[in-house]
Amino acid sequence: MGRNMNNFFHTFSVRTFTRTINISSLMIGIFSHLLFCQGLSAQDAAQPFVTYSNSIGNYLKRIQQGKQTHAFDPSLGFEEWQTKARKALIKLTGLKKLEKELAGFMPKVKLGEPKKTEDSFTRSLCSIETEPGIFVPFYLLVPKDAEPTKPRPLLLCPHGHDKLGLHSYAGAFKDEKHKREVLKKEGDIGAQAARRGFVVVAPATRGLAEEVLIPDPKGRHGNRPCRAQLIHGLLAGRTPIAERVWDMQCLLDWAEKHPLIDPKRIAMTGNSGGGVLTAYTAAIDTRIRVAIPSCSFTSVMSAEGFIFHCDCCLIPKLRDWGDWKELGGLVAPRHLLIVHGADDSLHHPPTVEKLAVNIGNIFQAAGVRNHTALKWGSSGHRFYPQKMWPFIKKGLK
Ligand SMILES: [Zn+2]
Repeated sequence: MGRNMNNFFHTFSVRTFTRTINISSLMIGIFSHLLFCQGLSAQDAAQPFVTYSNSIGNYLKRIQQGKQTHAFDPSLGFEEWQTKARKALIKLTGLKKLEKELAGFMPKVKLGEPKKTEDSFTRSLCSIETEPGIFVPFYLLVPKDAEPTKPRPLLLCPHGHDKLGLHSYAGAFKDEKHKREVLKKEGDIGAQAARRGFVVVAPATRGLAEEVLIPDPKGRHGNRPCRAQLIHGLLAGRTPIAERVWDMQCLLDWAEKHPLIDPKRIAMTGNSGGGVLTAYTAAIDTRIRVAIPSCSFTSVMSAEGFIFHCDCCLIPKLRDWGDWKELGGLVAPRHLLIVHGADDSLHHPPTVEKLAVNIGNIFQAAGVRNHTALKWGSSGHRFYPQKMWPFIKKGLK
């Protein structure tokens, strides 16, 4: 699936060579190639992503195995598995607790003045109060020719660990340098979608955008605001993921009533931490019809027990629930495209490939095998828009 296996091996071995240029790595590369050609899995042929001592490695494997109570079970009815797994996930993330605590709270949207751009859309900086005193800014991009008689698809695109994230995605650049850096990586994904006729909501991601950071006074949490967000949340029985999904759901509640938006055609994407948020939102909220988590969708941990994602993406006890295979399975029968960069050093291609095969099997059980795919971009940790648009178009049809 996704990219062809020869390309995969080629890229992987090139990565290996550039990391450790010596004879032994060359021999390992040749040996891996031989194993691979004999039909062994990429996982078998691959080098470890990290190395731990035996005692630590065994300890991590033992404690991180978890109960996996909601691991996908083909012997159960698909819908029964999905309903139970989704319900348990909503509780596990702390989102259920948030829902209860905020049951009487009415989120409020404050619309900004639409600014004409040189582009084919207008851009307004708006905000939504998603819980008392928490104002999440977002850009609303509207194609200039949009009209209520012909509502447009929506792209919801939360960003990752980039303090200027919403401005980057919306193409609202702070200066020439910002513009250059974002455009070099085709990171203005919201502006690109608006040019293609989408209404776009590009929100700040809580704990990651400059506007909605949790400060870390005295650097107690490693001078990392997103880690401070995790620690404060855990103390309160919630997680950054729950807070971020909550914010996305408040935005969806508002957006699906917007006269220019077709609520049946909602796509969501984000790179890195924005992709993690895309994965959780799509797993939990069935209003997302097409989900494209970019450079983010992987198993919780490598075969050695290394945890791939940032602290702020942690769901305590997730391995007692399942893994990202189940998270992907919760998107079926809707559409899930996993995109990665072949040279993204944060992720491990064989782990991703194996996960995508498992997710394909879950989609197969749901009767929609072709509603999920894995695609590889040719460089690093960034968007690969050319891989995304055809999948979005097909999924929103
Ligand atoms: Zn983080």
